[in-house]
Amino acid sequence: EGGIERHRYDVVVVGAGGAGLRAAIAAHEAGAETAIVCKSLLGKAHTVMAEGGIAAAMGNRWLEDNWEVHFRDTMRGGKMLNHWRMAQLHAQEAPERVLELEDWGALFDRTEDGLISQRDFGGHKYARLAHVGDRTGLEMIRTLQQRAVQVGIDVFMECTVTDLLKDDAGALSGVFGYWRETGRFVTIEAPAVVLATGGIGKSFKVTSNSWEYTGDGHALALRAGASLINMEFVQFHPTGMVWPPSVKGLLVTESVRGDGGVLKNSEGKRFMFDYIPDFFRAETADTEEEADRWYDDKKNNRRPPELLPRDEVARAINSEIKAGRGSPHGGIYLDIASRRDPDFIRKRLPSMYHQFKELADVDITQEPMEIGPTCHYVMGGIEVDPDTELSSVTGLYAVGECSGGMHGSNRLGGNSLSDLLVFGRRAGEAAAAYVAGLAQRPAVTDESVRAGEWSALTPFQVEGGDNPYTIQQELQQTMNDLVGIIRTAEELTQALVRIEELKERAQRMSVEGHRQYNPGWHLALDLRNMLVVSESIAKAALARRESRGGHTRDDYPKTDPEWGTKNLVVRLDDAGTGVTLAEQPLPEMPDDLLRHFQ
Ligand code: FAD
Repeated sequence: EGGIERHRYDVVVVGAGGAGLRAAIAAHEAGAETAIVCKSLLGKAHTVMAEGGIAAAMGNRWLEDNWEVHFRDTMRGGKMLNHWRMAQLHAQEAPERVLELEDWGALFDRTEDGLISQRDFGGHKYARLAHVGDRTGLEMIRTLQQRAVQVGIDVFMECTVTDLLKDDAGALSGVFGYWRETGRFVTIEAPAVVLATGGIGKSFKVTSNSWEYTGDGHALALRAGASLINMEFVQFHPTGMVWPPSVKGLLVTESVRGDGGVLKNSEGKRFMFDYIPDFFRAETADTEEEADRWYDDKKNNRRPPELLPRDEVARAINSEIKAGRGSPHGGIYLDIASRRDPDFIRKRLPSMYHQFKELADVDITQEPMEIGPTCHYVMGGIEVDPDTELSSVTGLYAVGECSGGMHGSNRLGGNSLSDLLVFGRRAGEAAAAYVAGLAQRPAVTDESVRAGEWSALTPFQVEGGDNPYTIQQELQQTMNDLVGIIRTAEELTQALVRIEELKERAQRMSVEGHRQYNPGWHLALDLRNMLVVSESIAKAALARRESRGGHTRDDYPKTDPEWGTKNLVVRLDDAGTGVTLAEQPLPEMPDDLLRHFQ
């Protein structure tokens, strides 16, 4: 192979979404030689698709808002399974991170008084999401990217990391990957690696996620010896497009409901009033009149049930569709046309207006949208120390959607973008400090590089095996049908049997052609990650015999206080071919925070 391209940095960040960019900026500012590696073009990360906004208790709309209220909302939204310390740091630091983003050039929408505007979202007591129309992610990425490039951080674009490297003593020493265009391999030596690879949505058939979200960071961490937590909790966003088929799953932002949109079934009934759970009854309007008054007078009225946390709304929609009250294309209706005037809709929701006009030929200022639940976000991820984002592997950090703990069993809208900023900064600083304190850098051994190479080339060595596209399709269908919104032991067991079969077949999958831009080969490599992540989700889902947040068991419909005291932790098994589960008690919340829930 004539020697593999090699580079050397202090900190390598894998992923160029909000989390990766913010981590890289922090590492660089702390004096570390820093590089970012990303699978797609810079600027194309998932973060760019974020629409609604960044949650931060800045108190611009409501003086009453502060970090403690945000902390409480986040913990309650996650049904108390969140790591309290992460939820605390997140709520405390989000406002500073938003203001800093503004300092770096982000242009937020304003209030009448010229402050950063904040919008309402499900589960947040006060209007709290800083936003730029419905294109907040774009502004965030633009700002962070500009800053990262300006300060001189090197970017390896369209480069996929396939393995983490370790030295003989087991210390992390760098990453191994390939350039997508040429298929040539590359090694980057670095004692600290920050994983910021985003989500896992592509394991499901109907998803709002793009092709990149194959759970690479989750799988890389597992294979390096780190643990994952909260994997049974996958968020199904209540509102994805259902028609036309080519865009099924594409997100319809929650801002539509935040700005006045309501959900109706085929009988024209505003059904969410039938689905208010006891847990949220005290703070939810129980009549249409009160719900409608809330938009103008939030002090004296309770929130509309359309703005309950996502898991509640997604389940309600699912039930209406199952009961035969769905729309012609298997969804239900989201109506803002009859509630707001066209100018308001076009101004507040420009992307939604265009999305429906261009893709579905629907004018949302005139007609209701047809929508249904779509796999959107994974709460589960790499288990980290809350203050430093260090995993259980020395030198390996994780932030953003690929990390776990912050959101517990369900994430509130807007809490991801703020999570990226808060913990991105913390991880970057911690990684830089770790490297600065090292007496000796772990070495990249030839053996570890050869192992990376061998493993990446395996799909070329098999002839006549399954093609990766077939396996991927079957996996997506399995996860959709058997590990979806509503789960049962029988279906989850069946899913695990199918995943085992798919793993077997994946061992023998083969790809055609050469290493030059070869999507089949890329998929074959991604598929290994999708399979181990899917197995983690299904196993944890089978073990958790209760319903909570993003995890609903038809056979255990109640939330069980006993399960509320523990997390499920996933690790790679000894053979390295599957995963094992263990129960772990939740970290204990200190009394001064506990009082918010008493
Ligand atoms: P991403 O932005 O997903 O970036 C991951 C990066 O990792 C990419 O650069 C990718 O190329 C790279 N990568 C992955 N694997 C590899 C590999 N093997 N090698 C190299 N690079 C790799 N959240 C909110 O808070 N508010 C919102 O309004 C909101 N709206 C959303 C709308 C949509 C349509 C979607 C899909 C999500 C939305 N979310 C929102 C969620 C939020 O956008 C994501 O959770 C968040 O952007 C994830 O950021 P991240 O930095 O963790 O990863």
